[in-house]
Order: sequence, then structure tokens, then C-alpha cells
Amino acid sequence: MTTETLETFEELGLSENILKALTEMGFSKPSPIQAQGIPAVMQGSDVIGQAQTGTGKTAAFGIPVLERIDTSSNAVQALVLCPTRELAVQVSEEIGRLAKYMRGVRIEAIYGGDSIDRQIRSLKKGVHIVVGTPGRVMDHMERKTLKFDEVRMMVLDEADEMLDMGFREDIESILADMPEDRQTILFSATMSKPIMSITKRFLNDPTLIKVVRNELTNQNIEQVYFEVKPQAKVEVMTRLIDMHHLKSLLVFCNTKRKVDEIVEDLQLRGYASEGIHGDLRQQQRSNVMSKFKAGVTTILVATDVAARGIDVSGLDGVINYDIPMDEEYYVHRIGRTGRAGMSGKAFSLVARDEKYRLKSIEGYTKVKIEKGVIPSFEDIVGVRKARFVENIAATIKETDDQGLYNDVLEMLHHSGFSTEQIVGAMAQQIMGVQKNEYSDGNLAWEERRGDRDGGRREGGDRFERRSSGGSRFERGGDRRGDDRRPGGSSDRYAPRGDRREAGRDGEPKRQSAPEAGMTRLFLSLGRKDHIMPKDIVGAIAGEANIPGKTIGAIDIYDKFTFVDVPERDARAVLRAMDGNTIKGKPVQIDIAK
Ligand code: ADP
Ligand code: MG
Repeated sequence: MTTETLETFEELGLSENILKALTEMGFSKPSPIQAQGIPAVMQGSDVIGQAQTGTGKTAAFGIPVLERIDTSSNAVQALVLCPTRELAVQVSEEIGRLAKYMRGVRIEAIYGGDSIDRQIRSLKKGVHIVVGTPGRVMDHMERKTLKFDEVRMMVLDEADEMLDMGFREDIESILADMPEDRQTILFSATMSKPIMSITKRFLNDPTLIKVVRNELTNQNIEQVYFEVKPQAKVEVMTRLIDMHHLKSLLVFCNTKRKVDEIVEDLQLRGYASEGIHGDLRQQQRSNVMSKFKAGVTTILVATDVAARGIDVSGLDGVINYDIPMDEEYYVHRIGRTGRAGMSGKAFSLVARDEKYRLKSIEGYTKVKIEKGVIPSFEDIVGVRKARFVENIAATIKETDDQGLYNDVLEMLHHSGFSTEQIVGAMAQQIMGVQKNEYSDGNLAWEERRGDRDGGRREGGDRFERRSSGGSRFERGGDRRGDDRRPGGSSDRYAPRGDRREAGRDGEPKRQSAPEAGMTRLFLSLGRKDHIMPKDIVGAIAGEANIPGKTIGAIDIYDKFTFVDVPERDARAVLRAMDGNTIKGKPVQIDIAK
């Protein structure tokens, strides 16, 4: 068969309504069976499609079926047979989603176990597409509650499974009862002898489309995802690298800009990393690649497109810094590890708004991706210590010129330090792990009601920033009383010393322009939501990862709040806060007018 695949659904010449639905469903490009199957079915010839589960066969026949329905007639025009009630429901739902913007197309799932009277009433109203299990369809045929004289398209979905389940006779008698000039489409994951005999008897010069592919995802790859706040992804990534001692690793992200950002961030933290993306010249590219292959750099950060051409083997793992827009990309990404029988790790860092993409990857690969627990700071210190001890022991064993540094300890003792202090300081220096602004409680996002599987909840949403000398929460909240003006309609919080007293005279300054270099933001929460300045500072600083002390005046009104933030951070704040919550309440945020 042809290996050419189409890049877009538009190229298949589908109607606007279907394209619109596809976009909404998040199908960005046809899967191989769709790219080849849709045109073949649309041409009108009989088709046999062979492809594994999870490759998108439903839409491969569902789309052309919808394109051929004539809604001016009330007759059944397409019959889809599925092996089980679950599949019949699934398929009819998927066709329903595809038909969302088409007018007047009626689809009905007909299966055993459901009330036959209800089905009969529904069929009487007129149904265009029947998706059913063979037994129940036979039943309706016998009762003459289903008439097939206008059927133009007949689909046998998961045909091998239907035969396995003993539906052979039913299928044959249904097929025998269909109009001669119908189009017959058969999908199956395998092409067994009984299938071949059915196709020979009931299909007319069929076009065979076969999409063989390697197993979608390989068993040796351990797939785990972590729910991570966007701004904590690098922190979590380095914890995972430390924890699992990953020495050769590919990190994927969706954009070139992200590649550069992550590389810089990793380098600052002392990880040997380099990036690769389409903007690099060939010379730079080969440079980066040879350093990575030689083990000089241990982490290669790449976009999907840039990674396509590169040939690396023996990776310990792959990290999806963000979740790819396309399920196929996920498969390609993680397929980089766990090769040749070796085991590999595939970690995905999932922000709240990426969760649905992860779900669709699971649907596509038919593999459950386990939810992982982010290693705690203590965990990391533990593994680093163990490694430090190992390294020291190895160095002592291997060193020839033992004497060279042996007086260092004595020199330090002379300066009045204890051996514990000295070794502790050396360990700290060499291990390079320090507490930073990411406390364990501030890495994962919190499950909201309505989020799927109940994840663990973090204790608090608090930073433990050591360097800034004291928690930012000492300000704000506790002072709220002081800042409340008698009779004023807002609670003003102006953290930076000299401005703290602003408005104290009772004259609200709320509408005055923000200070130079500051942007005023509007938040849809106010006093009625019981939010306090510290909540706002905490949320904004935490989510947008900006120091709390840079946040300016905060004016809390009954139903909304104005907050001044540095101009350069305003967009980051908008992005981080949009659709987010403060104290569990959804907030809308915008530039104040
Ligand atoms: P199959 O019948 O081959 O087992 P399905 O039709 O059930 O596969 O599709 C598997 C999953 O992939 C479904 O969740 C479906 O919505 C999704 N899917 C199908 N086609 C695409 C596409 N082109 N892009 C993204 N997701 C798709
Ligand atoms: Mg299917």
C-alpha cells in the first residue's frame, strides 16, 4: 500500500461541518488508516481496512458514512455492526460527535440488554445510521422494525472480534438481506481465514488498506505522569533526574523557545544540557549531537521536529516537559527509550490544562499511564548523599597521589572547624542541592472538583524562600486591619514601605494610575469571596513565579480587586492566573481599564 499520508483533514475534501467537529474533538491530523481509508471509502468502492486497535478506525468509516447521509429521507442508510454493546455505544457516540454540526442526522445504538420497545419507538421516528450488535439487529429484522432496503453503506467494525464471539451466522444473514448495490466496509485488526471467506463472499472487488505498525508503545518503557504546575516543571524534572539517576536523557517540549528556556534553566542548576531545534545551523547541530553521544552533555532538550532526524541510542529515559499536541508524537517520543530490550523511563509533566491531552494519549495507545508522586526534597537529599558517599569512597580507592590534598583537613581544623562541619560543607558544595523557592507543597496542582481521578492534595501552597529573609506572608494579611480605611470601600494593601500608608487619610487612591513600571490588573474576586491580600500575593507569586515583594498595591473591593504588578511580569501573571483559583474560587483576571 501507499505509505504517503496526508497532513490535514482539509486535504481529504471533507465538509466544513465535519472539519469543525474534528477540530473540536482535537483531531489535528488524520491517522494513517484515516488518511488512506477515508478517500477509499468516499470513492464508493468496498474497502477492507486492517489496523490495530486505537488507530482511529471509527472515524475512518464514520466520516465517509456521515458525508453520504441524505437527511431529506427518513430511511436507514447505513448500518454499522459492532461486536459488543460497549463498542456499539462508543462508536455511535463518536459518530455523534463527528456529526455535531450537521443538521438532522439521527444515529441510534441498538444492542441487547436495552429495552426493545424503547428501541422500536426510536426507530419509528426515523434513524439514518444504526450502530448495533448482530444479535439485536437480527431481532429487529425479524420483527420488521428495522428495514434495510435503503441501506447504502454497511460497516463491519472489529470483524475478527465479531467472528470470535460467534456472530458468523448472524452476520451472514444480515449481509444477505442487504440491498445488492450497497457499499461494504470491513475493519479488522487481523485477517484470519474466516474473515477472508466473508470478504470473498460479500465484498465486491474490495480495496485493501493495511496499516501495519510496530506496537504503539513498548512494554519495556515505564510510563508515568506527574501533575505539575507549569512554573515548577524544571524543578520537578531535576528531582526526577536525580532520583532515578538518569545519565542520558531526552527532554521534549513543544516549542523552540521552550527548548532555549529549559536548557538555560538546567544549566543554571548545574545540569549538563544542550538544546536542539530547527533554528540551529547544521554545524551547531552536529556539535550538540557529538557532545551528547560522547556523554559530555547528559540532557538533550528537543522539539519533536528536531528530534525526528536524530539517532541516539541507549537513553535512560525520556521526559515530556510538556504534552505533545499529537498522540503520534507521544509514541515517537517515548519510543526513543527502552530500545533493544533495555528498560527505559518515560515521564510526562502534566499541567492542569494538559490533562485532557494525556487522556487522549491513553485512549490512543490503549495503555494506562500511571500517576507518579513527585520526589520530596528529603528524597533528593537522601539520594544525593548516598551518591556523594559512593563517589568519595571511589575516589579514595582510585587516587594514586594520596598525599596531595591530605593536609587540607588539618588546615581547616586550624581555622577552628569541626570535621563534621568541613565534610558537611564539602558535601553541600559538591551535591549542589539547596532548598529553593519550590517547597514540596508547591509543585503539583491541586485537583479541583470535576477533575478526574482524585489525586493527592498538597498540604499548603506556600513557598519556603530562604533567601528573601522571612516569609512574604508576614506582610499583608496581618496588616489588613491597619490598612482598612474607615468608610473606605476598599482594602488597600501597599506593601512597599513608603507607599504603605497611601490612602490612610481616608481618601481612597484606588483609581489613581499605577506607579511607573507597574501594570494594574483587575481580578474578579473581592471581599465577598473572603480573600485577603496575602491570598492574592500568595497566588500570584506562586503561580506566576515572581517574588511576592515585587507585587504592588492591592485594592480589595466587594466584588473585585485591583492589583499592581511589575509591567514586565503582567503577561506572565495573566497567563498563570487565567482560569486559576484563589482560595479555591475561580478567578478572571485582566488588565484594568
Ligand atoms: P480503533 O477503532 O482503531 O481501535 P478508535 O476509532 O476507537 O480506534 O480511536 C481511538 C482513539 O483515538 C479515540 O479516542 C479517538 O477519539 C481517537 N482518535 C481517532 N482519530 C484521531 C485523530 N485523527 N487524531 C486524534 N485522535 C484520534
Ligand atoms: Mg474500533
